[in-house]
Amino acid sequence: MLELDKDSNQKEGRDDEAEKFLAYCFAHSLFIVHPSSPLKDLLSTQISHAPITCAPLPFPRAAFQNAIELMPTLNRLCIEMHTKECFWDLIFRVREQDKFIDKLFSCYCSESSKFEFCVQRADYMLDQGGNIKQVEINTIAAALYGLGPRVTELHRRGLAFCDDIPENRALEIIVKGFRKANKLYQDAYNVQNTIILMIIQEEERNMFDQSAFIDAVGIPVIRRTFSELVGMNEKSLFNQPLMINGKEVSIVYYRAGYTPTDYKSGACWTVRRAIEWSRATKCPSIITQLAGMKKMQEMLANPKVIQKFGIQKLSKCFAKFYKPNELPSLNLNNVVVKPQREGGGNNYYGSDIPKIILQLVSNPDAYVIMQRIDSPPQRVRALSNGKIIEMSAVAELGIFGVVIADNDGFLWNETAGYVLRTKAVESHEGGFMRGDSFIDAPLLV
Ligand code: ADP
Ligand code: MG
Repeated sequence: MLELDKDSNQKEGRDDEAEKFLAYCFAHSLFIVHPSSPLKDLLSTQISHAPITCAPLPFPRAAFQNAIELMPTLNRLCIEMHTKECFWDLIFRVREQDKFIDKLFSCYCSESSKFEFCVQRADYMLDQGGNIKQVEINTIAAALYGLGPRVTELHRRGLAFCDDIPENRALEIIVKGFRKANKLYQDAYNVQNTIILMIIQEEERNMFDQSAFIDAVGIPVIRRTFSELVGMNEKSLFNQPLMINGKEVSIVYYRAGYTPTDYKSGACWTVRRAIEWSRATKCPSIITQLAGMKKMQEMLANPKVIQKFGIQKLSKCFAKFYKPNELPSLNLNNVVVKPQREGGGNNYYGSDIPKIILQLVSNPDAYVIMQRIDSPPQRVRALSNGKIIEMSAVAELGIFGVVIADNDGFLWNETAGYVLRTKAVESHEGGFMRGDSFIDAPLLV
C-alpha cells in the first residue's frame, strides 16, 4: 500500500505557501518574462510568476483617499500645462542641457491631431507622518494597470477575504478611455475599423501587463517597435491618416519611447516624428510626455507656481526640491539627484552624488535635487523567484488617471484605480520590471 509520508515533503523543501501563491499566479495570468532570461522568441523565453506580496500592506486610509482625490487635478494639469508660458520656458531651458529632451522636442508638431489623450500614473511614498509625497508623474508608458488589479483581487477575494482593500478598476477604466478616444477619432474623421498601434521596447518583458490591455480593449491592437516601423516619412504623413497593414490607426499608444535606448537609430527618431505629425491621436503626444518631466514636477512644487496655477490642493503632496548651490549645506543621505530619465536605475543617492556634482553644477536644468522621502518600513512577506522571502519594506502607491481633451476643453477626466508596489528598504529603486519591487494591495487602516 502506498503511504503518504508527510515528512518527506518537508525534507525536499516543499513549500506549501509558495505553491499556493504560485498556483494563483499561473491561474490568473500574473506573469513576467524573467529578468535574467534572454528575450528572443516567446517559446524559448523563461516566463516567471510576477513578484507579489503574500498579504496586503497596511496603508493609511486618509493618505490613500488623498492620492485618489488629487488625480483629476493632475489630469487637468498635464494638458493645461501646454498653455502656460513657464512650461515652454522650462522646456527651452532643459533642451539646452539635455540632448534626449532636445530630440524629443524636435519631433513636436503643434497642429497634427485633434485630441490630446493621456494615461498617466502619479507615484507617491509615505512620509513618517503617514502623508503622501509625490515621487514622480509618468505621463508616458504608465504600466501595471493590467497586473495590479489581479493582485488586488488575490488579496481581496482570491486567497483571503478582505473588505478593507479598495476595489481596483484600473484596467476597466483605462480601457474605457481608449474606447472613448477611438470613438472620438472615428467620429471626427468619419472612419470605421480603426486600430491601436502600440509602440513597444525591443526587449519588452512586461508583455503580460500589456496583454491584459489587449485582451480587454475590444479594438484590434498591433504591437511594433520603432525599428520595425522605419520607413515612415513625416512630410507625407503631416495631418494624414496613419496606416498599418491597410488599417487606419486611431491611437498610437506608447509603451516605449521614454528612454534613449528605445531609439536604436536616427531612423527611429524619424518614425517618432512621422507619428507625431500624423493625425492619429497619440497617447501621449510629445508635449504631454514632456509635461511629465521631473523638472516640471520641481516647477510645480514652487509655492508661487502653486498659487499662480490655483493648485493649492496639491501643495502638501510635493517633496522639497533644492538648488545645486544648496547641496553643500545638505546631508547627502537626505536627497536624491535625478536626471530627466524614466524607467528606473537613473537616480543618484548618498555617496554616489559627488560623482555627478560637476555635471549637475554645469547643467542644472538637466537634473532635479529632491528631498529623500523617508518612509516608515514594515515587515513584508513576498513571493520572489518561486520562494517566500521576508523583508523590511516601504510602499509606493501609483494612482492612474485618464484624460482626453480637444481644443474646446476636457472630454474625459477619470481617476482609474491604482497599483501598490512594495520594495525592500535597502533597494533605492522601485522598478517592478527591474526586480526591485513587488505588486501589493493596500489594507486601509
Ligand atoms: P523613474 O522614472 O526612473 O521611475 P523615479 O522618480 O520613480 O524615477 O525614481 C525611481 C525610484 O527611486 C522610485 O520608484 C523610488 O523607489 C525611488 N525614489 C525616487 N525619488 C525618491 C525620493 N524623493 N525619495 C525616496 N525615494 C525615491
Ligand atoms: Mg518611477
